[in-house]
Amino acid sequence: MRMYVAGEWRSADREDEIRSPWSGEVVDTVPRASAADAERAVAAAVQGALAMRRLTAYDRQQILNRAADLLEDACEDVARTISLEEGKPLSEALGEARRTPDLIRLAASEGARMHGETLPLDAAAGAEGKLGFTLRVPCGVVVAIAPFNYPLLLVAHKLAPALAAGNAVVLKPASQTPLTALKLTELLLAAGLPTNALQTITGSGGELGPALCSDERVRKISFTGSVDVGRMIAGAAGVKKLSLELGANCPVIVLPDADLDEVAAATAAGGYVNAGQVCISVQRVIVDERAYGDFLEALRTRVEAIAIGDPLAEGTQLAALVSEGEAERVEGTIRGAVDAGARLLTGGSRDRGVVAPAVVADVPEETALWRDELFGPAVAVRPVSGVEEAIAVANDTRYGLGAGIFTRDVTSAMRFVREVDAGNLHVNWTPLWRADLMPYGGLKGSGIGKEGPRYAVEEMTELKTVVFHGVNGGGS
Ligand code: NAD
Repeated sequence: MRMYVAGEWRSADREDEIRSPWSGEVVDTVPRASAADAERAVAAAVQGALAMRRLTAYDRQQILNRAADLLEDACEDVARTISLEEGKPLSEALGEARRTPDLIRLAASEGARMHGETLPLDAAAGAEGKLGFTLRVPCGVVVAIAPFNYPLLLVAHKLAPALAAGNAVVLKPASQTPLTALKLTELLLAAGLPTNALQTITGSGGELGPALCSDERVRKISFTGSVDVGRMIAGAAGVKKLSLELGANCPVIVLPDADLDEVAAATAAGGYVNAGQVCISVQRVIVDERAYGDFLEALRTRVEAIAIGDPLAEGTQLAALVSEGEAERVEGTIRGAVDAGARLLTGGSRDRGVVAPAVVADVPEETALWRDELFGPAVAVRPVSGVEEAIAVANDTRYGLGAGIFTRDVTSAMRFVREVDAGNLHVNWTPLWRADLMPYGGLKGSGIGKEGPRYAVEEMTELKTVVFHGVNGGGS
């Protein structure tokens, strides 16, 4: 496919092959954009921002609703592209494709609700007779940089609110998964989006990112990805609005009154969906020692039943990670924990890009498997003496995206909600759950800002304060 910059589908001198993580076959090629393409994209987006500003909220809503309808019709084709380029099972890709039209419609309606408020200026000394209010306006040019793991959903979580709010966007999809984003771009244009309102530029984040992020014509950066890249972007951004949705290492607490079969079933989904390549994947399970042995056995049984295979084959639940290099990294992290004294109950072996889903018990706290983000199909488990220790262990991380607790005890659940430092807290489920309307974003090292259409529209707009002074500065 070609990239879409300055109103044209363009190629470049260099091309990148997009390969299926499962088969290694080339799915397609995309241009590797140059610094000159990045410059062209921002310049065109400046024009696009003017065109978007002239559209009414009604027009923007109509365009996005049409795009949602087109995507609904194209769901199966788009899901196949997601599965081919990212490697996730087709059933999961279909789930991703089917929920995205509603997300776009939701953003469209939020864009039609960009309220300001009246200001009670007469409550200020000397402000008698003046009229004040706020106006919410688009930022202008938004740079959206997306990760590989949800090539449609996480791109839509940026594009739809940005466009709904009246911005132009320069989208840089992940280098591994640009094809889905290019298909979404086609649908948005077919729905009537003004030519320069969207630039979808493909290529290396390391080459394009610094130029896009430091450009003073860009007012807002919306980034989802790793902490390391997030830090570089924050350094390059200068004076801009920033949303950073970064990495995580999500804990789940299991208290002895929980239904352990239910917890095991939820963990066997929450730790291994998309081969664990989800920012809200279950990574650490912190179990009251009274339930520890029974929980480990229930989880091992469930995880051993996960069906590994070709992502396009019916019934497959787990396939390759996004690359063989990632699979090697995950295998090495699991091995490192075992070398440090952890017990491998199942899985952990690697065959090219596939890592067999693993359960690792008694994981020492100083290991990378316990401390860092894994982004792979393994769950680390440790026993604790009760809720107090469980909360302390859950909080002992630089991350704070999601957390869960399983208990019927309201007092423990309330303590968990109050004391665990995470942006999304789930009582009687794992953190791997999201409704697209929710505010969604991390505390601590997991980032700044919230996604979810209502919150993203707010973050992709600016507030102007207006004061009418009346004739001769007075008024009545
Ligand atoms: P990544 O940080 O490697 O890449 C993300 C994007 O940044 C890609 O488009 C990449 O091309 C681009 N990029 C790379 N270098 C850049 C630079 N110097 N400047 C600007 N952009 C640059 O992340 P990934 O491997 O694609 O995704 C996995 C990470 O994303 C994990 O850490 C995961 O937790 C995180 N993630 C977070 C959330 C969330 O909502 N918090 C959701 C999904 C993924």
